Amino acid sequence: MKDLKNNLFKNIDLSLDELISLRRDFHKYAESGWTEFRTASKIADYLKDVGLEVKIGEEVIDINSMMGVPSKERLEEYKKRALSQGAKEEYLNLMKNGATGVVGILDTKKEGETIAFRFDIDSLEGIESDDINHRPTNEGFASINEGNMHACGHDGHAAIGLVLAKAMNNIKEQLKGKILFVFQPAEEGTRGAYSMVNKGILDNVNYLFTGHIGFKSGKLGELVVNTGGFLSTTKLDVYYKGRATHAGATPEKGKNALLAAATAALNLHTLCQHGDGTARINVGVLKAGTGRNVVPDRAEMKIETRGETTEINEYITQRAIKILESAANMYDVTCEVTLAGKAESGYSDKELSLLVKEASNEVSDITNIVEYTSLSGSEDATYMMNKVQQNKGKAVYLMFGTERAADHHNNGFDFNEEVLKVAVKVYATTVLKLYEKEGN
Ligand SMILES: [Zn+2]
Ligand SMILES: [Zn+2]
Repeated sequence: MKDLKNNLFKNIDLSLDELISLRRDFHKYAESGWTEFRTASKIADYLKDVGLEVKIGEEVIDINSMMGVPSKERLEEYKKRALSQGAKEEYLNLMKNGATGVVGILDTKKEGETIAFRFDIDSLEGIESDDINHRPTNEGFASINEGNMHACGHDGHAAIGLVLAKAMNNIKEQLKGKILFVFQPAEEGTRGAYSMVNKGILDNVNYLFTGHIGFKSGKLGELVVNTGGFLSTTKLDVYYKGRATHAGATPEKGKNALLAAATAALNLHTLCQHGDGTARINVGVLKAGTGRNVVPDRAEMKIETRGETTEINEYITQRAIKILESAANMYDVTCEVTLAGKAESGYSDKELSLLVKEASNEVSDITNIVEYTSLSGSEDATYMMNKVQQNKGKAVYLMFGTERAADHHNNGFDFNEEVLKVAVKVYATTVLKLYEKEGN
């Protein structure tokens, strides 16, 4: 086992250049949620080359469970862009309706447990910094897809997943059971995981590992093994519709959607009280009206609720919907609320976290292991973690420390790429530790 590990680590060290070039390729062709056509195509190709069975598109996404999907026109536009940037038509044909997920299956054909690794692959919507001191700009791999930028590190996650799949396939003879490499679209806005869970991708998984690169004050070599405290969240898009009229001549004939939305916004922010724990609400966007002298007939809001538990979040969401509808009644306008994203609360299994810790102690790049950190944010990986745990499996969320050029989601975000190989090593050695524990 010791020789096997040493060889494994040596090979992963040698893969650093490949990890970096994969990450930079995904970075340059950044694609946001449900439009990861090129990204998914490249991932599928790589996994096939490695020798894995590959499933893509509607084979791994339940299209009725997709949340916050862009318009058909936009999907078509981005599909064309992906084709011009090297995506393969055979894969694009399978990614209907923006179903841009991929799963690689390493089947050892020997009896054993099923392990799954999950990686999110989407970029954010935003304009990347063109400052010459921003490394992607300086070194020529800044996003060329206007309005899309990898500012959360999911370009790194995708690269980690691919090289991990190759490393595991190289030692296939020493493995048992199955390993799934799950590449999930649309994590931003917590939109994608639910559809993979509902397709049954996690149904027979005994162990699930996922995580994120970078965290507050994290340095390269630091690892959090027992992340919990995920806030359950709901994202809602709200549309108010009233009647426009001349603001001077016939204001009594108007139905004011702007006032309905403004009334709702103020009242929504009074909601965050709950005896069982933390609750949050945010009206992030409010756009209304068409002109200075017109009674505004339309308003649009993007809001989100969060809760320490799924129940608290559900309570705040239901109260929020009451306020949204009541405000519509007050101004005699209509209100349409659509679900744009959702995630549950979740926790990492302690026992499995300790196993990751034990395994990571053998990775010389790891200098500090923290056993518990509360994320205080939301992640739709919780759908997958909860699914595995409901089936008596175990799940862990890891955080890999790295220096960052700016905060996550900032347009100057970048990270120390050495973290990519550290993550691959931690994941890979954890698999071997699992086998050791099982006495295989
Ligand atoms: Zn993010
Ligand atoms: Zn992220």
